[in-house]
Amino acid sequence: MSALDITRVKLYPVMVRRRTGVANLHVIVRLEAGASQVGWGEMSDLSHLPMYQFDLAALEQVLNDLLAGQDARNLARLEDRMQRFYPNEGHKYSRSGLVRQGVDLALHDLVARAEGVPVYALLGGQVRDRLKVCYPIFRMRGIEEVGPNLDRVQSAYERGFDLIRVYVGANEAADRLFCESFVARFGGKVRIKSLDYSNLLGWRQCLAQAERLANVVEFMLVESPAPENDYDGLAEFRRRSRWAVSEHANHLDHAWILLHRRCVDILNVAPYVLGGLRASIRLIALAEAAHASVLLGTTQELDLGTAAVAHLGAVARVLDYPSDNTGPELYTDSIVKNRVRYEAGFLLVPDGPGLGLVVDEERLAGMATRISNPFGADLDAIVDRTPRRGK
Ligand code: MG
Ligand code: MG
Repeated sequence: MSALDITRVKLYPVMVRRRTGVANLHVIVRLEAGASQVGWGEMSDLSHLPMYQFDLAALEQVLNDLLAGQDARNLARLEDRMQRFYPNEGHKYSRSGLVRQGVDLALHDLVARAEGVPVYALLGGQVRDRLKVCYPIFRMRGIEEVGPNLDRVQSAYERGFDLIRVYVGANEAADRLFCESFVARFGGKVRIKSLDYSNLLGWRQCLAQAERLANVVEFMLVESPAPENDYDGLAEFRRRSRWAVSEHANHLDHAWILLHRRCVDILNVAPYVLGGLRASIRLIALAEAAHASVLLGTTQELDLGTAAVAHLGAVARVLDYPSDNTGPELYTDSIVKNRVRYEAGFLLVPDGPGLGLVVDEERLAGMATRISNPFGADLDAIVDRTPRRGK
């Protein structure tokens, strides 16, 4: 038996509350190999559509069947195996992508720990030791949400974040009031990376609204300013827009279509949807070939998922816009002993072995929950990128 043959996969569902009040479900992956090697991964934020959850007992059984006895160092081979059993699903909250991410992260953590090196070293060595990130301001459905959001900007600013992104498009009066008040209160101190329309509106509406908001505030780019899969609309927005356009890449072929049809300036690359680090590195190479830009996106990962993004950013040849990875700043609890660190609005790449974090197993056992619907009764509210029906 090779020293790194996989012996067991264990899954731990945890529910973690955010500063905004909502709680989100994640699944922590523990991979065991050889005599005593362990690696940790994360299936991040299951609180999105589609409206069903994993049967975790069944998933754990299948992952054991797929991985037990395999040499953990065969990363390419194991990725191929996982991709076959968990194929692309074509939307950005792919359950399949999350399963692959959980295993890919745990494999990288395990193999890098066994070698005594950080994950970025396993990936070829770092070209940067930190990445600029922005703090999210979630979509406002009414003007009463403006004040609390300005306070969130203040609190983020006091913690060193001088860049935000704003989810817009549900209520233009609220968006406008937020932008006006933002400039009055934070002008010259905090900047806006992006307006994110999250595929909510047609390209023409997005363009009209972005142009009106541009009279009030400056922003670097516009994200998802056309309905999902409306490649012609997105390309039309981009032709007429003076801002760079970004869109989430759901998988490799999707990214190719976005680039080939000239829909985007920037690929939003994120391991949670693409299925981990190896898949994300391929997407970055694709962007490089198309002379496009890259930013690293998020679903609001916990520390493990965010550390993985930091290692990805460390080795990314193309990373020319600020990224979105501030999940750990949003959550009020953590399963690791040493949290990922931010400094002056930068996410620092961890330096320890593996992903660089130490899981607090006692805490994890205490936080482990039964898998359940984390959405509560307010089903419309979970469609967090869509206005409430009838509005
Ligand atoms: Mg987005
Ligand atoms: Mg999310």
